[in-house]
Amino acid sequence: MPSSDRVLVTGGAGFIGSFLCERLLAEGREVLCVDNFFTGRRANVAHLLQNPRFELMRHDITFPLYVEVDRIYNFACPASPVYYQFDPVQTTKVSVHGAINMLGLAKRLKARILQASTSEVYGDPTRHPQTEDYWGNVNPIGPRSCYDEGKRCAETLFFDYWRQHQLEIKVARIFNTYGPRMHPNDGRVVSNFVVQALRGEPLAIYGDGGQTRSFCYVDDLVEGVLRLMEAEAAIVGPINLGNPDEISIRDLAALIIDLTGSRSSIVSKPLPTDDPRQRQPDIGLARATLDWAPSTPLRAGLERTIAYFDDTLRRGQ
Ligand code: NAD
Ligand code: UDP
Repeated sequence: MPSSDRVLVTGGAGFIGSFLCERLLAEGREVLCVDNFFTGRRANVAHLLQNPRFELMRHDITFPLYVEVDRIYNFACPASPVYYQFDPVQTTKVSVHGAINMLGLAKRLKARILQASTSEVYGDPTRHPQTEDYWGNVNPIGPRSCYDEGKRCAETLFFDYWRQHQLEIKVARIFNTYGPRMHPNDGRVVSNFVVQALRGEPLAIYGDGGQTRSFCYVDDLVEGVLRLMEAEAAIVGPINLGNPDEISIRDLAALIIDLTGSRSSIVSKPLPTDDPRQRQPDIGLARATLDWAPSTPLRAGLERTIAYFDDTLRRGQ
């Protein structure tokens, strides 16, 4: 077996992490999924438990981890504003102490390590679309800062380990990703709107709904992450991974009402502090270096996501 067959996925029982574990197993790798189940669920990986190449370990990555692997995907961190703001000190700890622990592990093992960074490192961007050379516009002391600055510090740590210890690093800046297996109470906009529409409840738009995001279907995102990990060592990133198809939150609400055939109305709620006004990835670098671009149109991805939530809600989960 090639040495890169043993893979650690932190946050592997979460939304994106569970799809990543699934893909890695399908490629024949051994997968160690580490998660403390803060926002992740055993149910997300229940279908993988029978696979002899899959192992699930409950562990909080703010504490050191001693395992033997060849690749590390560091995905552990709550990603929904509701959850990362619930215990902001812990969010910074996961991002920073978690990164230090995983980088230390990678250094000891001489393992390649990929960081799930985020478009939030650009904050409320003043440059549009966002390219990787943009340094961002981040409030260091606001309610989103635990996540934004935590992820920024993690990037710093990754690049210092690369320069100082010649570690093989990869940094992916992931933009808004959606799909099945998001928790119905996740709090992010796609799952909120789909669940509200399916239940016939009003869709709650924060602010005037003119703010934009660019939504990437999870399968496309995972493909980009895998390509980055296996790209030649010189390609370290940061690299934007996301779908450049930008949409306002108001239009997203209308689209979800249309696709669900819902009779839900739309209500307005206050805009959260520091909510970014616009967000769209420039994926020129990912196209050029990874030959990657998302292929799932928003409508198609939403249809699959709606089908998942419809089934989940019918079964009362
Ligand atoms: P998620 O909340 O579903 O998954 C995060 C997982 O990390 C959960 O399973 C959670 O239980 C686990 N976790 C949290 N703290 C932990 C800790 N201390 N130790 C071990 N496990 C811990 O969120 P997601 O959307 O799947 O996001 C996964 C990663 O991708 C995160 O690092 C997030 O910052 C990044 N990301 C996601 C998006 C997105 O739109 N989904 C965008 C940018 C970046
Ligand atoms: N949003 C909304 N209604 C919701 C949840 C979110 O209008 O029920 C808005 C939110 O204010 C933001 C956008 O949708 O402008 C995306 O929010 P999300 O929490 O999904 O992600 P992020 O802000 O981290 O990109």
